[in-house]
Amino acid sequence: MHSSVMFTIHGVSASKGIAIGRVHIVDHGQFEVSERSIKPARVKNEIARFHRALRSARNELSAVKDKIPPDTATDVGAFIDTHLLMLEDSALTNAPVKFISEKLCNAEWALKVQRDALVAVFEAMDDPYLRTRKDDIDHVVNRIQRILLKRNKPARGRSANPLSDRIVFADDLTPADTVLMQHQGISAFLTEFGGPNSHTAILARSFRIPAVVGLHSARAYLRDDELVIVDGQRGVIIVDPDRTTIRHFERRRREIDRQTIARKRLRKSPVVTSDGESIVLQANVELPSDMHAAAQVGAAGIGLYRTEYLFMNRKEPPGEEEQYRAYLKMVNALKGAPVTIRTLDLGADKQVDGSRPGAPGSSNPALGLRAVRLCLKEHSLFRPQLRAILRVSARNPVRMMIPMLSNMQELLQVLQLIKECERELKTDGKAFDPNMPVGAMIEVPAAAVCADLFARRLDFLSIGTNDLIQYTIAIDRIDDEVSYLYDPLHPAVLRLIQMTINAGKKVGIPVAMCGEMAGDALYTRLLLGLGLKEFSVHPNALLEVKQAINETHIGDARKLAQRIMRAVRTATRDSLIDEINQPGAA
Ligand code: PEP
Ligand code: MG
Repeated sequence: MHSSVMFTIHGVSASKGIAIGRVHIVDHGQFEVSERSIKPARVKNEIARFHRALRSARNELSAVKDKIPPDTATDVGAFIDTHLLMLEDSALTNAPVKFISEKLCNAEWALKVQRDALVAVFEAMDDPYLRTRKDDIDHVVNRIQRILLKRNKPARGRSANPLSDRIVFADDLTPADTVLMQHQGISAFLTEFGGPNSHTAILARSFRIPAVVGLHSARAYLRDDELVIVDGQRGVIIVDPDRTTIRHFERRRREIDRQTIARKRLRKSPVVTSDGESIVLQANVELPSDMHAAAQVGAAGIGLYRTEYLFMNRKEPPGEEEQYRAYLKMVNALKGAPVTIRTLDLGADKQVDGSRPGAPGSSNPALGLRAVRLCLKEHSLFRPQLRAILRVSARNPVRMMIPMLSNMQELLQVLQLIKECERELKTDGKAFDPNMPVGAMIEVPAAAVCADLFARRLDFLSIGTNDLIQYTIAIDRIDDEVSYLYDPLHPAVLRLIQMTINAGKKVGIPVAMCGEMAGDALYTRLLLGLGLKEFSVHPNALLEVKQAINETHIGDARKLAQRIMRAVRTATRDSLIDEINQPGAA
């Protein structure tokens, strides 16, 4: 018998909020598939069976797409389109067919062999977005295997709506399943694998559903129907909670709900600290629909527009004209508010033309040929983007931002290329703003240490804490095995942030922060205390950060921030962060 003893399991926070409810375990890990030989005469039938399964998978996904609620903030449809496209891709349609006829084996086995080959390629990748495509392959392949094996659909069960108010636990969830489950009223997600950058995590944040991922050991301890509390903020779950604990979390949940409703009133209010300092609060966007979300929360512009999405899930990179139109659309949606377009930040070993790289990736892809390094090597990739951004600047308030700069040589090369593109545009009779601000992300420790040198050549800086923390503490940001070391309060990180802010101040250029740290209201007062004046955050986090800014007295925050900077022990820093966040403390 399962004894009733309350215990806690730690994972990684993917979406904040509290849920209390019963667990629904979704079982759809890798299917056990074995090899069966078939007679040459059966090959045709086996191929037809495979094609039928592909068709059914497509129909299922199209049906899911039709059910997406129209007001969904993130472009969920795009995720499902990715899976639909994969179902058309020759890697999944032709390769297994060829394998069936050459090796005289069953369709399930042919598909499994192809899946393993594709996954091996993607596993060697570093870029979080592209790495999630490995998960996409598994999701799509599992869907086909389930149909081939005639297994029931995941998440079908006891009653008409078995998922209502349930806390769904799965090894991992497909974006499509996630949309469906959200539609069925689930109250939280828990997954055994996957980091906070997975599509499921992105969706959970977009749907505002509490989610904890990377719960490695949880499968062994959780049972269907068990009562669980999900603390999305801390990334933990409490199994079999006692009454006192339930009451405590119910109170916290009510408080969070109350605050969320109250915050809606802040949409149009100015962003000013209690001692009268105006702060710039902008939004991070990547998909066109994020623009809508950003406008809805009243963002004063876009501090980070990640252009990578435009280059993904396609065979050829977008040309200048297509990029121009896409950027213009984004800028127009903001109705005159400034938009900071970041140049391409694709990773090391993945091909921008969407083809699968033949060679395995470098052994340290995060330290490899990514972002501006790749762009400076592949001018044919970089120039059309530079030209497109310049052209959008002609009549719109656009800023260009360069990611991953690590030395001055790279910056000088970029500035030279921009000059060349300007000359070409002039010759072509195409308009641009010759004074378009050009800035850089400070996300490599070398750049933070030398921020003063960069600041002299640039119009603004923006601190990318996601990468800055990864490189400073030497922890892969997508490896959930080391995520316990991911610490925005590490003195080394705080010193680098402080150095960057000071460097900007000295030269007289603005310094923003656009990494996830800027969007966590836990750190707002600390960052203001360190002198940060510009924040760019996920649209869903914007009002919470705005409230934290409005409630901060910078003079007081400065003193507390210096105490945190001097604190060495984690426990001391944690209690100082609690202290700085007390009402009236700063
Ligand atoms: C960062 O590194 O903090 C950042 C904002 O960029 P990205 O997460 O896209 O690498
Ligand atoms: Mg980055």
